[in-house]
Amino acid sequence: MSGFRIGFGFDVHRLEKGLPLWLGGVKIPSDLGSAGHSDADVLIHALCDALLGAAALGDIGQHFPDSDPAFKDTPSRYFLETVMGMIKNERWTPVNIDITVCLEEPRIAPFRDDVIGNLSAITGLNADAISVKATTTEGLGFAGRREGISAYAVVLIRRDGIT
Ligand code: MG
Repeated sequence: MSGFRIGFGFDVHRLEKGLPLWLGGVKIPSDLGSAGHSDADVLIHALCDALLGAAALGDIGQHFPDSDPAFKDTPSRYFLETVMGMIKNERWTPVNIDITVCLEEPRIAPFRDDVIGNLSAITGLNADAISVKATTTEGLGFAGRREGISAYAVVLIRRDGIT
C-alpha cells in the first residue's frame, strides 16, 4: 500500500472589532479579528481539512465540533497537531502544502515566515515545501467588505509501502 493523495480545504470566519486575528498560529495586528468558537484561525482550519480530506478521515467539524465546550478558545495549533497524529497513524506523510488566504487587509507578507515556521514545526515539513500566499478580492464580496476572511489549502500526502 503506497501512493499519493491530494486534499483540499476551505474555511471562512466572520471578522469583528475587538477580536484577535490569528493566522497560522501568529497573532496578526489588525483592527478586526476572526470570530469563532476556537481561536478561529482560518488558515489552520483550511489546512486541517485539506489534510483530513487527503487521507479521507472526515473533517475538522466532525473531529472538533464547535458545540463542544472543550474546544472553546482552543488554539488551532492543537487541531493541526491532532490531525497530524491522525494521518501519521494511517502512515501518511505530507509532501507539500499550498495555502491562500483571502483578506482585504492587513498585509500578511511581513508575517509569512513566522507562519511557515509554525506550520513547519507542527507538520515536520521543510519550510521550502510550505507556501503561504494572500490575496485581496479587489474590494468585492464579504472579504472585500471586510466582513469575513477565508482560506484555501491544498496538500499532497504520501504513503510509503511496507518493505
Ligand atoms: Mg473554521
